[in-house]
Amino acid sequence: MLKVRNLTKVYYTGIFSRRSIFALNNLSFDVNRGDIFGIVGESGSGKTTIAQILLRLIEPDHGSVYFDKQNLLTLNGEKLRRFRQRIQAVSQNYESALNPRMKIEESLKEVFLVKGKKRCKEITRKSLSARLNEVGLNEEHLDRYPAQLSGGQLQRINIARAIALEPELIIADEPTSNLDVSVQAQIIHLMLGLKSKTNSTLIFISHDLDLVSLICNRVAVIKRGKIVETGVTEKILKHGGKKCLFQ
Ligand code: ADP
Ligand code: MG
Repeated sequence: MLKVRNLTKVYYTGIFSRRSIFALNNLSFDVNRGDIFGIVGESGSGKTTIAQILLRLIEPDHGSVYFDKQNLLTLNGEKLRRFRQRIQAVSQNYESALNPRMKIEESLKEVFLVKGKKRCKEITRKSLSARLNEVGLNEEHLDRYPAQLSGGQLQRINIARAIALEPELIIADEPTSNLDVSVQAQIIHLMLGLKSKTNSTLIFISHDLDLVSLICNRVAVIKRGKIVETGVTEKILKHGGKKCLFQ
């Protein structure tokens, strides 16, 4: 489904000496339809950079990304707009993903209006609360502002927004890293349940190899912008994926 080839992204830092950081260095991997594909690596290894490139939020310096044989990186205009509906993201910053001045009802509605081009009248309160039921919330949450909800509830709303337009691929970048331990498991359960219900593909990004090996069928271990291991989860663990990660 997704073929990532030779991705390189360089950041330059420093005003006088232009020091270069290879956030990604010639990185390639494949994701099959239906996979729960784990990308695991320590902080600063380039995980978020991959997510941002796949979502077309930043451009790489080199490389290509094929999504169903179409080169994502060359899409623009209407084609890019249509493509954006097919890939959605859930990020670790569950708070900043929602507008603090908008009620949840408006935030949810916005997804359909902006991305789905539905008309306002077609989106009823009933249909929105049905969306919330899918993520374990209910109609009363529609009237709240983000500040009135817990981290777990906010992340549930972000998940509802991500799945609203039935994307084929969901990229979850450390979706539970900023949540309490007790809530993490619930959110993971929810994501896995929705993933199998909707038949979508999931890229799960984390620094936690134990977690990734528990839920993902295939994994890429990344270190300093390079893939050090990739393949079926059990094999990676046998080959000492953990060792690669923490050496
Ligand atoms: P991860 O998500 O694995 O923690 P990132 O993809 O966020 O890693 O970052 C990879 C590397 O790129 C890090 O060394 C980070 O400091 C650097 N980096 C990321 N974004 C920028 C930026 N906008 N400017 C400069 N360096 C950046
Ligand atoms: Mg990150």
